[in-house]
Amino acid sequence: MKKIGVLTSGGDAPGMNAAIRAVVRKAIFHGIEPYAIYQGFSGLINGNIKKLALGSVGDIIQRGGTILRSARCEEFKTKEGQLKGVEQLKKFDIDGLVVIGGDGSYRGAKALTELGFPCVGVPATIDNDIPGTSHTIGFDTALNTVLSAIDNIRDTASSHERTFIIEVMGRGAGDIALFSGLAGGAETIVIPEADFDIADICDRLRKGQERGKKHSIIIVAEGVMSGTEFAAKLKNAINIEIRVSVLGHIQRGGTPTGFDRVLASRLGARAVELLMEDKGGRAVGIDQDVIVDNDILNILDQPHSFHEDIYTLSKELSI
Ligand code: ADP
Repeated sequence: MKKIGVLTSGGDAPGMNAAIRAVVRKAIFHGIEPYAIYQGFSGLINGNIKKLALGSVGDIIQRGGTILRSARCEEFKTKEGQLKGVEQLKKFDIDGLVVIGGDGSYRGAKALTELGFPCVGVPATIDNDIPGTSHTIGFDTALNTVLSAIDNIRDTASSHERTFIIEVMGRGAGDIALFSGLAGGAETIVIPEADFDIADICDRLRKGQERGKKHSIIIVAEGVMSGTEFAAKLKNAINIEIRVSVLGHIQRGGTPTGFDRVLASRLGARAVELLMEDKGGRAVGIDQDVIVDNDILNILDQPHSFHEDIYTLSKELSI
């Protein structure tokens, strides 16, 4: 392994830069030349590739987003696109590739692996929906961003004695809603992994009112329905004042937390080690604070794990 490439793809996540830095520095530490592939798989197809120096990743560990920029690339979903990508990698004499991103990006890395090119996936997405790792890079930062928003909304909710519905990101996986709901003391959490019952939610709201509760916070993951749709459902069933807050893209940006920076540094460095050990076709992750790796060819076949215990606990603690 003399030259390795690194790219970020799909939705950006805080901590991607810390992962890029780890890949580049770890490679240089071991005498390997690192190459940046800009704009994800689209840059790969177009040969938007440049050699990186040690200093090129200076001052980025604390920055959100990705200095390599990201892109969605439909062409890379086709065999022709993927072959063009392999051609570019060969043109630059790159021997291995680190792909930092979410499940779509993993599918791209899987396709390259199937074409015989050594790739390692590094899980980076705020959604925390990648199997084979308890945490993805960016999740902890997004969780804390959402929490600070919940805390702010709680102030106004309690001053005006209102019920607030807060819509957060999470299409297939409700981890942002689930963890922020527990940590933010939400009365109700609505996520794709669990059914909800409007009558039961209204019952909980009424009981809260009866014992003098001044406000309620309901967290809805966007994958279930929009906050506005949920408010309409609730309005039909109970006569209370409801406000809706959609947090939107503020959840994606921001300075990565210490946890995400450490995770990104460990996972990025391990990805380089695997390539050095001639172990392409892997996806790195963390499991009980141990860095692990799994087969990238079948990792996405495993289901995303639902933390039912946390869901149950949040209900118990918000009576
Ligand atoms: P994320 O990685 O955040 O889940 P996307 O789902 O948009 O984001 O995927 C990012 C990119 O990965 C896509 O634009 C495409 O270039 C590539 N990709 C996604 N699915 C596949 C696939 N089945 N085969 C090859 N490449 C894919």
